Amino acid sequence: MVKHRLIGHELYVEIGEEVLNTIYEEALRAYPFEGGGFLFGAYTEDRSLAQILLMVKSPSTHASGSSFLRSVSEKQFMRIHKETGLHYLGEWHSHPDGNAQYSGIDRQAMIEIAEYNKTEIENPLLMIVSVKSRKVKGYEIYMYDNKQLLRYEQDRS
Ligand SMILES: [Zn+2]
Repeated sequence: MVKHRLIGHELYVEIGEEVLNTIYEEALRAYPFEGGGFLFGAYTEDRSLAQILLMVKSPSTHASGSSFLRSVSEKQFMRIHKETGLHYLGEWHSHPDGNAQYSGIDRQAMIEIAEYNKTEIENPLLMIVSVKSRKVKGYEIYMYDNKQLLRYEQDRS
C-alpha cells in the first residue's frame, strides 16, 4: 500500500500496488488520449483513512460530470457495491503530455460530482496521472472539500 497524507490534516489515502498498476496500464493504453475511471474502496470507521482497492474504467472522463453519465454509473456503482462491499470513493483520469495538476475543468467536474452524490459521498477523491512520451511520470491525489481540491502528499513515515 502506498500511503498519502492530506497536507495539514490527519487524513490519509492508501492505494494498493495492484490498483495503482491497473490505473497506470489504463492510462498508458489510452495514450495519447485521456484514460480514466472510478475509484472504489473502504473507509476506516473514523473516516481518517480511505483505502483505494478497485479501479473501474469509465467510457468518458472529463465528461463524467454530466448527469446522464452519472445516472448510468449510479446503477453500476450499486452493483459493484453489492458484489464487492466496496464504496465509490472518487474518480481518476490521465493527463497525456501534461502534469498531474488539476485543471479548472477538473475542479468544475468535481463540484458537479459532489453535488450529484451529496447523499453518498461528501468528499470525493480525484486522482490525476501524468503520462509523457508513453511513460507514467507521476500522479497526484486530491480531496474535494467545499468547492476546493486539497492535495495529498506521499507519506513516507
Ligand atoms: Zn484533468
